[in-house]
Amino acid sequence: MTGRNEPATSGATGTPAGRVQTVLGPIDPAELGWVLPHEHTAIALWHIPNRWDYWELRRDKPLISDELAAFRSAGGGAIVDLTLDGVGRDPDWLAGLARTTGLHVVMGSGWYRGAHYPPEALIDRRSVDALADVIVRDATSGVGDTGIRSGVIGEIGTDKPWLSAQEERVHRAAARAARRTGLAITTHAVQSAVGLDQLDVFAAEGADLTRVVIGHADSYPALDYHLAIVDRGATVEFDFLGMTFTPLERHGEGRIVEILVALLARGHAERLLLSQDVCHDSQLRRYGGNGYTYLAESFLPRLREAGVSESDIRTITIGNPRRLLTIAPPHG
Ligand SMILES: [Zn+2]
Repeated sequence: MTGRNEPATSGATGTPAGRVQTVLGPIDPAELGWVLPHEHTAIALWHIPNRWDYWELRRDKPLISDELAAFRSAGGGAIVDLTLDGVGRDPDWLAGLARTTGLHVVMGSGWYRGAHYPPEALIDRRSVDALADVIVRDATSGVGDTGIRSGVIGEIGTDKPWLSAQEERVHRAAARAARRTGLAITTHAVQSAVGLDQLDVFAAEGADLTRVVIGHADSYPALDYHLAIVDRGATVEFDFLGMTFTPLERHGEGRIVEILVALLARGHAERLLLSQDVCHDSQLRRYGGNGYTYLAESFLPRLREAGVSESDIRTITIGNPRRLLTIAPPHG
C-alpha cells in the first residue's frame, strides 16, 4: 500500500451495483418510472468529411427543457442520452437539464461509429484494454474532471451493415468495460442484421447478452432478425418511432406494430424497448415534429388498439429499462 491514490480504473468497486447511475448520482431503480432509453438532447452529426448536410439537434436549453417537460407531463420519468464524444457529449449540459426538468437523465459512454470517432480517441493507436479503461473511468470516476458518471455503454455502432476493423475494436472495448463495470450496452445498428454481428463480438468477449440492447431494430423490420436477437437473450429496441424521415416510412409503422404483437405473442415482452431517437431539430414539437411525446400521444395508443395489454406496456416502458439500467455486479 503506497498511501497514494490509485487510478480509479479497476471498476471493481467503482460502480454502484443494484443502483441506477444518473448524471446527478446513483438512485433507486424504482425511481426511474417510464424511461425513453434511446434519445439525444443535443447532437452534431454534420462535421465529418464528405457529409453535405447540417444534421444537428442544437443545444438550446429553454427549448429542449420545454420539450422534455412535455414528456414529463405525459408521465415520463427518465431519459437516456446516448450522445457520445465526437458528436457533442457534455455531462454538465445533461446535469443542467436534469435539474431543470426534474427528469432522471442517464448518460452514455464509449464511441458512436467509425465516421464519428474523434481523432483524440486514438481508436487504432491504443490497445482494446486501454480503450476499455476510458469507458470504465467514465463509469467509475466520471467524465474528465466533472465527476459526472455514465450509467450505460453506448450507443456503440457501425456505419455500414458490417463492423469495420476500428468498430470491432470499440465493440470489444465496450464488452470488456461492461464486464468490469456491470453496465449494460446499447447499440446503433441500422437497416441490416448487423446487430447479430455485434452480438457475436460481445459474446466472444464474454459479455452477458441479457444486458445488451440492439438499437434501431425498427429500421430493419424483419421478424426473423428480431427473433434471432431475443433468442440470444438480448433486447430488441424499436427507437425510430415517429421519425418520419427515415427509411421506416417505406414500410410504415403498421409493420412495426405487427412485429411487436408477434413478439409479444411469443412471450418476449421482457426483451423489448421503445424510444424515439430525437436527434434533429425538425423532430422537436416547436418545429412541427413529434418531440419526446410520440410514444405517449400516438404509438402507445396504437399498441392498445392492437390489443397490447397495459401490463405488457408497463413491462416494455418501465420494467425493461429499469432492469437494464440497474448496474449488475462486475464479472470480469
Ligand atoms: Zn441515437
